[in-house]
Amino acid sequence: MELLAHKQNLIKVCRKLAEHGFVAATDGNVSIRLDDGTILVTPSGRSKADVDEDELIVVGLDGRVVAGIGRSSTEFGMHSLIYQKRPDIRGIVHAHPVHATAFAAARIALDKPIFPEVIVALGKIPLASYSTPSTAEVSEAIEPLVEEFDAILLANHGVVTCGSTLDEAYDKMEKVEHTAAINFIVMQMGGAKELTKEEVQRLASISERSYGKKVDLKKIYG
Ligand code: 13P
Ligand code: ZN
Repeated sequence: MELLAHKQNLIKVCRKLAEHGFVAATDGNVSIRLDDGTILVTPSGRSKADVDEDELIVVGLDGRVVAGIGRSSTEFGMHSLIYQKRPDIRGIVHAHPVHATAFAAARIALDKPIFPEVIVALGKIPLASYSTPSTAEVSEAIEPLVEEFDAILLANHGVVTCGSTLDEAYDKMEKVEHTAAINFIVMQMGGAKELTKEEVQRLASISERSYGKKVDLKKIYG
């Protein structure tokens, strides 16, 4: 794909994040791994509602700026760690959606088998230990979870999701926030009834045929 097409796709995702209220003010950052291995990333401190194609920055995995003016996202280290640990990943989204970030602030992982769609798409959504945003601590906090999980809650901060395309990473962010919002409501109703292990196993047995995706029971039960 041409660089311009990647830039347009990245900006489309920025607009979706802003429109859905998954970020406030200049929160969040988005990146794509390009064919040559460099990373196209949002600049630091820009509203995702306003940022333009010509403000995007191309950075090497080592943080060296290859093209673009301005400063790349302060969370580039987190993006870089994910790309280094996961050769299958081509897109990353970091945002602060309200309900999921509330769970992250309460330090409650979304790790119970409740929604079949979430089990198939993500396994579970674990919680990384607290790290100061925009520092190397963030990479250290997510490192134990990155190889296994595509969506991670960042304690007292927000969420990071990744995918084999940027659109897939965005969809996972939407799924995380949706399930967090439902979980929040169901907690006021006395709590969700979890699926039994047998029900999860049955889901796993049909998931490849029905959803085109295998359920890894290890991700759910360890
Ligand atoms: P940047 O503006 O530097 O990308 O940081 C936003 C953010 O969400 C920090 O965690
Ligand atoms: Zn953040």
